[in-house]
Amino acid sequence: MTELERHSFDVVVIGAGGAGLRAAIEARLLGKRVAIVCKSLFGKAHTVMAEGGIAAAMGNVNSNDNWQVHFRDTMRGGKFLNSWRMAELHAKEAPQRVWELETYGALFDRTPDGKISQRNFGGHEYPRLAHVGDRSGLELIRTLQQKIVSLQQDDFRATGDYEAGIKIFAEVTITRLLTADGRAAGAYGYYRETGDFVLFEAPAVVLATGGIGKTFKVTSGSWEYTGDGHALAMKAGATTLNMEFIQFHPTGMVWPPSVKGILVTESVRGDGGVLTNSEGKRFMFDYIPDVFKAMYATTPEEGDRWYTDPDNNRRPPELLPRDEVARAINSEVKAGRGSPRGGVYLDVSSRLPADVIRKKLPSMWHQFKELADVDITKEPMEVGPTCHYVMGGVEVDPDSEMTKLPGLFAAGEVSGGMHGSNRLGGNSLSDLLVFGRRAGLGAAEYIDRLGGSRPAVTDEMLAEAEAEALLPFNIESGENPFVIHAELQQTMNDLVGIIRTEAELVEALERLDDFKVRVQNAKVEGGRAFNPGWHLAIDLRNMLLVGESVAKAALERTESRGGHTRDDFPGMNPEWRQVNIVCRAEGDGVAIERQPIPPMREDLIELFEVSELKKYLTEAELPKGAH
Ligand code: FAD
Repeated sequence: MTELERHSFDVVVIGAGGAGLRAAIEARLLGKRVAIVCKSLFGKAHTVMAEGGIAAAMGNVNSNDNWQVHFRDTMRGGKFLNSWRMAELHAKEAPQRVWELETYGALFDRTPDGKISQRNFGGHEYPRLAHVGDRSGLELIRTLQQKIVSLQQDDFRATGDYEAGIKIFAEVTITRLLTADGRAAGAYGYYRETGDFVLFEAPAVVLATGGIGKTFKVTSGSWEYTGDGHALAMKAGATTLNMEFIQFHPTGMVWPPSVKGILVTESVRGDGGVLTNSEGKRFMFDYIPDVFKAMYATTPEEGDRWYTDPDNNRRPPELLPRDEVARAINSEVKAGRGSPRGGVYLDVSSRLPADVIRKKLPSMWHQFKELADVDITKEPMEVGPTCHYVMGGVEVDPDSEMTKLPGLFAAGEVSGGMHGSNRLGGNSLSDLLVFGRRAGLGAAEYIDRLGGSRPAVTDEMLAEAEAEALLPFNIESGENPFVIHAELQQTMNDLVGIIRTEAELVEALERLDDFKVRVQNAKVEGGRAFNPGWHLAIDLRNMLLVGESVAKAALERTESRGGHTRDDFPGMNPEWRQVNIVCRAEGDGVAIERQPIPPMREDLIELFEVSELKKYLTEAELPKGAH
């Protein structure tokens, strides 16, 4: 074995986005020694890229808002497949988490009377997103990091050591979770800069590694989104669920090619932007599904009135949940009514004065000017769907965020259940705060329950982890990992993308089987010190396991719901609403099974009109006497 740096902590948090930071803060506040490990620089996570805001029913802009309305919107957005307990906790606790951020020093945009301002977003009945222009994630990360620094200063005053309570390990990739006696025992990884290996022994591990975007070719995510947490959890014996549900955000940049997929925030539509096709038509009015008909305007005039008089008008269909808008754009382009570069038009220039656009959407103005030489105050943008978010993720207990492996917790985008088949915009940042805190709490309570007993890491486990990581250096004749990655992404985009069929999914699974051999034979040159080929060769294993999970679950679910559209099974089927598809690692692949979803608690069911419930539930699930 090569030399190994060893550390021992109470809790190891893998990931320094919003979920990881909030989990670390909570565990430290409860007296635990915490390591935060992240693959990129500290502060560079997807959370920092979030634009629109944090959804929380504070009722600052419309006092009719409350947790019950937020819960209803979230369940509707997820097409009732959500873990209703997570949706309940999320709706109830999100406002506290936003106010708490203010006590940590966050500076949100304000209403004229000085409250935290809240903006409209798709699927949210009232203005609900607390925001800072279109740079909300930056403020969230800045604030959480500031809180960590203040805790480290407290620790210094108490112990003379800034890192006594929280120590940060940046640019370290975790390649394996360690388990002993059927529970978590720590995490193993390497420093990206030197290639040196590092061990974190800990009885509690929190996964907060974010999403899987880089498994697909067109994505709003950056290089870190390789599904590491999903794969690490499965390989350690935990499960994932709902992996078939991928959110293709309707509006990514389509041009120039080098920036294809970069996000165009939903705030553009929330603040009045409209979608048009090559004939100049606001086409979304043609795509309002029956389940949403009563809630959306049927004419542009009514939709436009809603922005100033929401109590007496219905919202415009540009603000339907993301899955609906993405499918509509896809259909327009397929029907030959797209823009010259294969998207549609998103126009805010004819809707708002230039100075308002620059004030409300500064990043968007800058992004289009710099990257595409388009001035969005004068001309429309060209946009199209981009892989943005994975609703599926590691299966957790809704209250404690513990996975099926004792001692392993998951929070944020890597965890599953909360968003059902489709996430509403803004509900991720609130999810990170609510469930990040709960994961830190769950980890601390778990350690207290363990008492003094700690799982042991053996030399054998370490030798295995090292051999696995070094494999790409020891391949005689293999393939370049960058070539394999490009082809894997293309396969996922073409065959497991926004619209799916049985034949394409079967073909995808056959190709993924071939990729297993190719990924195993990914070969890298050079040494271990900052070697991007080696990093990718390791990440590829995770993307492959994730890709197979998505494709297998998508083949199994013979209906269309939220972020899973089957051309051969176009409608929702209430029988399918009763099951999650659970994935576990088996051999070198993925085994799936159907798992019944527990019936919704009666007091939560009563929050909905029976006429609405009938659109989603089977007869047997409807409240008594409602048939
Ligand atoms: P991330 O913030 O992605 O952090 C993941 C962390 O895990 C990183 O530190 C990474 O380095 C680390 N990591 C990953 N793998 C490993 C490994 N193997 N070893 C060590 N570390 C690892 N949501 C909203 O609610 N509102 C919005 O306005 C919004 N806008 C968005 C705009 C963009 C452009 C994007 C991409 C997303 C947006 N989202 C938004 C979604 C939201 O930002 C993400 O879902 C959320 O930030 C994910 O947070 P997280 O803490 O789960 O993970």
